Amino acid sequence: MLNVRIRFYEELNFFLEKSKRKREIQVSCKKGTTIKAIIEAFGVPHTEVDLVLVNGESMSFSYQLKDRDRLSVYPVFESFDITTVSLVRPIPLRITRFILDVHLGKLAKFLRLLGFDTRYSNSFSDREISREAYREKRIILTRDKGLLKRKIVTHGYYIKSRNSREQLFEVVKRFDLLRSLKPFTRCIRCNEQLIIIEEKEIIDSLPDEIRKRYDSFHFCSVCNKVYWKGSHWENMKRILDEIYIDVKKDE
Ligand SMILES: [Zn+2]
Repeated sequence: MLNVRIRFYEELNFFLEKSKRKREIQVSCKKGTTIKAIIEAFGVPHTEVDLVLVNGESMSFSYQLKDRDRLSVYPVFESFDITTVSLVRPIPLRITRFILDVHLGKLAKFLRLLGFDTRYSNSFSDREISREAYREKRIILTRDKGLLKRKIVTHGYYIKSRNSREQLFEVVKRFDLLRSLKPFTRCIRCNEQLIIIEEKEIIDSLPDEIRKRYDSFHFCSVCNKVYWKGSHWENMKRILDEIYIDVKKDE
């Protein structure tokens, strides 16, 4: 058996039992135990971790622990520069694309409304989600820690809130999305990108009232749905304003 010491920093403490938070923990483990395995034995999904120092040096998830190693485990850094040390995470995904687990249908709609490529189906299995995430380089959003522990999963985020609006705030903050929002450019039903259409192209299919009140229309070529800036637009604008205020408050 090996004896090692481990300490989790910042919001990673959220995943620990109360007695283990914010302090160094002594732990025994078998020879051959990796960083990934020991982190997850504490209930922390590896996708939440960006940097692990072993005796002060940064190591990858596959590093096998040695007797008396001292581990410092850090979450994603948002506000300070760690470019000089190597991260355990592979290269960040350049385009922010998501895949959501089956319980996050409302959040999926919100993310689509903000223009993010978001795959969602209420019939996805964990296996399908992790495979598709890997294949299409998507970030998994879930409230299921088990899903994030799968080996194939490289990019994911554990959603803390149960409220869909707060969930959206969490995601915008965690992935620093404020500057990449493209509201009302994606179909909330099927995730397809909307195209702008001229009123005359769809004039026959629109109710009179709508035609009189609005002059700008978007169209989903997959579900043949026409969008205009009606009440959902106003609601979403309100939510967007709240996000701006909320995120700015933290900056
Ligand atoms: Zn559609």
